[in-house]
Amino acid sequence: MPRRTKILATLGPGSSDEANLTKLIQAGVNVFRLNFSHGSAEEHTERAMTIRKIAKSLQMPVGILCDMQGPKIRIGSFANDAKIDLAEGDIFSLDSNMDKEAGNQDAVYIEQELLEDMDAGDVLLLDDGRLTFDILEKSASLARCKVVQGGVLSSKKGVNKFGGGLSADALTPKDKADIKTAAALKTDYLAISFVRAAADVELTRKLLKDAGSSAHIIAKVERAEAITEEFLPGIIEASDGVMVARGDLGVEIGDANLVAVQKQLIEAAMAANKVVITATQMMESMITAPTPTRAEVFDVANAVLDGTDAVMLSAETAVGSYPVETVTAMARVIEGAEKHPLTQRSKHRIDETFERIDESLALSAMYVANHLKGVKAVICMTETGFTPLLMSRITSSLPIYAFAEKAGTCEITALYKGVVPVPFETSTLEPSDINHLAVEKLREYDAVADGDLVLITKGDFVNVQGGTNTLKIVRVGDEIR
Ligand code: PGA
Ligand code: MN
Repeated sequence: MPRRTKILATLGPGSSDEANLTKLIQAGVNVFRLNFSHGSAEEHTERAMTIRKIAKSLQMPVGILCDMQGPKIRIGSFANDAKIDLAEGDIFSLDSNMDKEAGNQDAVYIEQELLEDMDAGDVLLLDDGRLTFDILEKSASLARCKVVQGGVLSSKKGVNKFGGGLSADALTPKDKADIKTAAALKTDYLAISFVRAAADVELTRKLLKDAGSSAHIIAKVERAEAITEEFLPGIIEASDGVMVARGDLGVEIGDANLVAVQKQLIEAAMAANKVVITATQMMESMITAPTPTRAEVFDVANAVLDGTDAVMLSAETAVGSYPVETVTAMARVIEGAEKHPLTQRSKHRIDETFERIDESLALSAMYVANHLKGVKAVICMTETGFTPLLMSRITSSLPIYAFAEKAGTCEITALYKGVVPVPFETSTLEPSDINHLAVEKLREYDAVADGDLVLITKGDFVNVQGGTNTLKIVRVGDEIR
């Protein structure tokens, strides 16, 4: 049985040469993240080309996700890029009047408009929460703070406000330029950081379209505001998927709240027929060690049991010393977790009614797959990947093979839980041969043997979007039409 939960791995300078990329794909990476917080447009473009080339030669569809930097809110720099040491009780100020690069032991620059969102009594978290400040006094140009949790502070570290509320447009001028780069390198997915509301996603969709791209959009949920009832449903609706971006989100809402939020986000995304990625520090210790801690094993497994489509690796594969070992360990842990019955039982949306024919058909197919004895695989002839997406929202232990001809569809479905993308040219085949040849293809994957049942879904016309209207059940070895 192929692994169902997918692996998304971030690339960095140390892991992006051809030999390493080949090893990472063979170890189990399904989608690569190109992180636009680091590196140049040329570097990302070259990486994307290398990934495509290797994936093609290995005949393993691998997706590409370009992750926009977003408005990470940062302090200015310290003079000579010094690091300062702050102790509990120290008084330290954020000052919009001082020089951007003249930070010292007493104060550092911050943008004036960010000060507008701060008040006396607010708690600020610096450097991903490593340091904590209480704001004692606030004026238009200065926040005077007391250090509550001290530590070393260096130039351009991130600032979050506990509870959220530091505003900045989700798309910076850099992001807008990077969207063009991502469109030009034909990215499959585009992730936007620090999304506040559906409008951020809609604007991104428009910019992508203007640049000639129909990339699927992942909204990174990492601001306190984004998980509120006011904004979350709209964000999920407007995007193709969400990322539980636990790094920044944990800083804004506190780590103790992450557990419930991760479960809620995964459930909400699944119910809305969207994909969901669980991210950050999943195998953090493997940056410097060849094996994961038990806690990391359980964190990855827990995300699998929560029902995530994919788990993400960040620094582990971008700058870590053991990128291939990390992917191997992650794949192993996922396979272990997927032995648990929780990952195989479904409620089948029994109480719902549907408006779409393809949705009803996809869910009916999954009902049959999960309830008819002897079914070993589902073949889904798909144009855009939408039917396999719908199918994979239903929990099952059976693999869904997404047979697709259109460029990019296999790479999109590479992220979907339980879906195996299969490049398959139908337009050159006689319609009466397609089912038979598709089943023969599954034999190449060692997915079926004589006597097994296989489900096939498709539409009446090849290469038509949203046309799935047929479910057929065939027995391998019999004459199949
Ligand atoms: P990042 O996003 O790695 O781009 O910061 C993920 C997160 O915040 O968890
Ligand atoms: Mn983040």
